[in-house]
Amino acid sequence: MALLMRESNQAPLHQLTKISGKPFAPLNTEWVSCRVCGAWMQFLGQIDLEATIIKGICDRKQLLLLFMCSNNPGMCDEWDADLGGNAAILVSKTNLTSLEPPCDQEEFLSEEILLTLDECDDSADTYCDILNQFQYQICGKIGGEPLWIQDDETPICSCGARMKFVVQLEPSTAFNFGDSGSGYGFVCSVCQQQAKFLWQCY
Ligand SMILES: [Zn+2]
Ligand SMILES: [Zn+2]
Repeated sequence: MALLMRESNQAPLHQLTKISGKPFAPLNTEWVSCRVCGAWMQFLGQIDLEATIIKGICDRKQLLLLFMCSNNPGMCDEWDADLGGNAAILVSKTNLTSLEPPCDQEEFLSEEILLTLDECDDSADTYCDILNQFQYQICGKIGGEPLWIQDDETPICSCGARMKFVVQLEPSTAFNFGDSGSGYGFVCSVCQQQAKFLWQCY
């Protein structure tokens, strides 16, 4: 079972899982920059771990924030979770505020997309069918198994544990990273402090 993230203008009020807009995070959260080119990264979206239906993850009062470098798409090693062209950070769900970006370039902050989260069968066929049928309304899925475009690149945490898949992001109207591929977000279920994100292209 997985949760399908579908674009919606009727998303539940106060839902903390969304795509784009400004991150909703504790006041002291620092915006991340790309370790490859040094530019500020684009905020892609956030997942409320408590809203996932993933065993061992959905009891954690944390938000997973996802960032990727959009300065020079494809040139900052976004395909690798460890090289610094993308970032995933875990923050606690306390003192939440809407974070202002560190700069105000027009394309840097995309319009917020609210989501409904619908339970769906996690088979690869079902997911592909839904993506084909509702392109750009489906922002991805939470839980289940990642549908890899290339090889399985499940990251290893700095604590040594194999990380747990949380979210797959599809290109949406909110951000354009060469309009192909998928993003994959993971958290560590052992140390519960680390998260990673990577993007694969066709
Ligand atoms: Zn970069
Ligand atoms: Zn860990």
